[in-house]
Amino acid sequence: MTANFAPAFAADDTVSTARRRLARALATAGKEPADLEARILLETATGLAALALLTRGDETLGAAAETLEKFAARRLAGEPVNRITGTTNFFGLDLTVAPNVLDPRADTEILVETALELMARKGFQNPRILDLGVGSGAILCALLDSRPDAFGIGVDLSPHACAATQANLARCGLTSRGTVIRGDWTAALSGRFDLIVSNPPYIRHAEIAELDPEVRDHDPRLALDGGPDGLAPYRLLSVELARLLRPGGVACLEIGWLQGAEVSALFRAKSLAQVSCRRDHGGRDRVIAIES
Ligand code: GLN
Repeated sequence: MTANFAPAFAADDTVSTARRRLARALATAGKEPADLEARILLETATGLAALALLTRGDETLGAAAETLEKFAARRLAGEPVNRITGTTNFFGLDLTVAPNVLDPRADTEILVETALELMARKGFQNPRILDLGVGSGAILCALLDSRPDAFGIGVDLSPHACAATQANLARCGLTSRGTVIRGDWTAALSGRFDLIVSNPPYIRHAEIAELDPEVRDHDPRLALDGGPDGLAPYRLLSVELARLLRPGGVACLEIGWLQGAEVSALFRAKSLAQVSCRRDHGGRDRVIAIES
């Protein structure tokens, strides 16, 4: 393995020189898309917006040089960009990415799209939404933001996740319609929901060690480890949905891309009315939709 030497930055380096040097270092280390990553890190370090990085490229870095140098070293050591900036964009929302909480993935946006489509098709009004294993709150915030008539509860066992969801609900101005409770999945819940969503941990235990280090070393195990066959959360959900979903309600669950057949079979065996599988933008099975 070749060592990745982090570039040094000085206060009198110009913004555009720094950007080029950082992009080159990232590309050499195989961190792609290097130009985009360099722009995001530079934006965060300097506080300049994307356009200003271009129009004010001749200005010097000043005090931002030190921050940028630290960011570059962290990125080249394998820390994901979103963890360095502490933010991400999910379904058009600017969200906080907190330590010990899963960094929301773009693939998960398909779950939000599926849930919104189903709610529209079924004519839900003032839907009550439950997000099990709410993590950062990305799915819940996206749904509540897209449906101003909805109310939602997120549940998570991790106090870090509960705090992150609370912060993201506040950041999106959604605290009057969304809340989070700390709990073990469905244990503390009663009542019926119109929509249940979940991106549960679904990676097989034995596969965790082989994950990309940027996932394995930075996303929490609790959000990844789905037990010996990766299906433990779906078994529990296949029992609990019957209790928590109102008749006519729907559930949308994220799955691993090879789990479509097995997870569908689990829910079909519980004679939930209709089970279908949706693909992500990469053409891989990603979401199971269950209509009760
Ligand atoms: N999709 C996540 C990943 O790529 C896994 C999240 C999960 O297990 N729910 O690592």
